[in-house]
Amino acid sequence: MGNDPKKTAEGLFEIPDGDLDKGYLLGSKCKHCGTVSFPKRKVCPSCLANDGIEEIPLSKRGKLFSFSINQMAPEGFKAPYVTGKVDLPEKVRIFTVITGCPPEEDALSIGMDMEMAFEPVYRGKNGEALVGYTFRPARADGSQAVEKRDLLRCASSLVTATYYMYDSFLRICAPCISSFFNSL
Ligand SMILES: [Zn+2]
Repeated sequence: MGNDPKKTAEGLFEIPDGDLDKGYLLGSKCKHCGTVSFPKRKVCPSCLANDGIEEIPLSKRGKLFSFSINQMAPEGFKAPYVTGKVDLPEKVRIFTVITGCPPEEDALSIGMDMEMAFEPVYRGKNGEALVGYTFRPARADGSQAVEKRDLLRCASSLVTATYYMYDSFLRICAPCISSFFNSL
């Protein structure tokens, strides 16, 4: 409280109590035709109504529509970094920085579940960290994202380690044991 993080932009999102976990994007919904927009608008882009537009919090999960690995970074960003578009259930497409995975093509796939997060995105002119929304690969149970690749890597290194242990047992220990028994 009273310790709100510095934001990358005003009017795009709220971070209640300065708690990044509670952050959400601010959209608008037209009461006439139901169209949801982000950023929020005063006039509905579908039916052009300029009344009955309400501010709504947007879903924090969506599906990856597209992404690209950026090799050149604007001031304040570190290259390479990932940007992309995420489709929310409200039928809104959000342009976003993507984090929580290495900036490599095979770290992401079109249509995968993504989860919104709030975190320092880049540095302002005075070097201060500015907090913005990002999306990252989501796990099915909604908990903090863990790369499927990481799990595979972990499993494969376990298999490798087990193999080498067995292999060195055969090469080193087994001859010792057999020679010990032979010497009896
Ligand atoms: Zn409308």
